[in-house]
Amino acid sequence: MKTNAQINPLWNEKKIKNYLPHMTVPEVDDFLSKSDLVIIPIGALEQHSSHLPIGTDFINGVEQCKLIAQERDILVAPVLMAGQSPYHMAFAGSITLSAETIVQVHMETVESLIKHGFKRFVFMNSHGGNRAITTFLVDQINQKTAGVAVDFGVAINPFLKPDISEAPQVLDRHAGTGETSDSLYLMPDLVQLEKATATKLTLPKHLENMIPGVVDNDPTAKLLFLSEALKAEETGKKTSTIEMTETGVWGELNPKEATVERGKKNIKNVVQASVKFIDKWNESIASS
Ligand SMILES: [Zn+2]
Repeated sequence: MKTNAQINPLWNEKKIKNYLPHMTVPEVDDFLSKSDLVIIPIGALEQHSSHLPIGTDFINGVEQCKLIAQERDILVAPVLMAGQSPYHMAFAGSITLSAETIVQVHMETVESLIKHGFKRFVFMNSHGGNRAITTFLVDQINQKTAGVAVDFGVAINPFLKPDISEAPQVLDRHAGTGETSDSLYLMPDLVQLEKATATKLTLPKHLENMIPGVVDNDPTAKLLFLSEALKAEETGKKTSTIEMTETGVWGELNPKEATVERGKKNIKNVVQASVKFIDKWNESIASS
């Protein structure tokens, strides 16, 4: 046992099972004798107001993948921290990558892993701005490689318990109470809840009029709202984050209302749904 004076004073990581960056070659070989399944988080490095870190989407995505990988043999292989976030660029620290870059990095990642014998890939996207990219990426893998890929959000959807999110009936999205609750559970030391404040939203009038429909989950309102909202300042849509909210929080609630209990419930639901999906996928292969 080394005393604290002998080791990196900043070191506080523990070796996590099935987490590729922590694994040795023999451990990867051993994993491959049991499973060919990989989960790759796609995150973002972007502003999350004053109470959540820039890496929120990346860190929360990786932490959820790790939790799933403790339940079933699925290899957690994060390769990219940043995502597509052009509409957050007015806030210091945000980084945005093109769709082409994100797709290319993950195509090459999958091709590398296929060489070692991995066959099945789950992409867990934890950032709204990457949604269409994830859909396209998954199809590219299925069309062009020997691997089989699925979009995590689509895959677990049928297995999620309904109405568990306790989502309030107001607009409450980026860096809002839901994301802050999840963060309180997944990365508690990085949340500064005392710095969370409510914001005043300044949306273009016609988008503001759509909010009741969006909150009510009306599919048309949601489709039109999200097609226009959260787009780069250069598009002229007046919907980049800074144009709609001074604090970077995109919602009508004070994120201070977030609770670790709500986050725990939500993440447990996601992990349980993931396990059910993985079991079903494994069964379908075993019986073929
Ligand atoms: Zn986020």
